[in-house]
Amino acid sequence: MAGFDHIKNWVFDLDNTLYPPKYKLFDQIDVNMTGYIKKYLGLGQDEAYAKQKYLYQTYGTTLNGLMAEHNIDPDEFLGHVHQIDTSDIPPNAELRNQLFRITEERENNRRIVYTNGTRKHAINVMDALEITDMFDIIIGIRQTDFVPKPKAEAFDKFFKMVDINPKTSVMFEDLPVNLKVPKQRGMTTVLVQPAEVQHPDSKWAFDGNDEHIEYKTKDLEGFLEEVI
Ligand SMILES: [Mg+2]
Repeated sequence: MAGFDHIKNWVFDLDNTLYPPKYKLFDQIDVNMTGYIKKYLGLGQDEAYAKQKYLYQTYGTTLNGLMAEHNIDPDEFLGHVHQIDTSDIPPNAELRNQLFRITEERENNRRIVYTNGTRKHAINVMDALEITDMFDIIIGIRQTDFVPKPKAEAFDKFFKMVDINPKTSVMFEDLPVNLKVPKQRGMTTVLVQPAEVQHPDSKWAFDGNDEHIEYKTKDLEGFLEEVI
């Protein structure tokens, strides 16, 4: 596909982008977050759940809300919430093959993961998919000083850190809202959205228009096969 000839950096979100939402890893993380809030703030189940949703909607991530309102230790929180079981996720040989082609068939191209989770979480999940060694750089929330996507500050930290020219880079994401700043900065944007229903917590991220989304695919591996 002609629109990708200039691309040098292939940037992928992790959760619900490199694996489909059907594995419901977020449900496990969600339960862990509620558990942490219950314990840390001494709340009952319903109160803790309501607090969690309030923090998420007010601050963009539950972590940022807990840091702002309760001064929690982010490492302790992240270590707790990312303790998940990835045994339902099978290796993805086709995705591995497409990621391999990016550097095999294109000179000086790089494959990058950029997630609002931790690098440790990313590696845990990518180990299950058997694709960890297919990435040149993994950037997590700690590397952007806990500033999350979709904030412009987060992307600008990311671009600087990995020395990226957004105009020769593509971003793959499952959340439309996380493609707004990349598009403004000149990245090519691809929405990866399987036909499955998204997590209800992510619904807010789908509101608004689609002008910042250049490509949409339900099939990441098939899309990569065409554009690499
Ligand atoms: Mg995602």
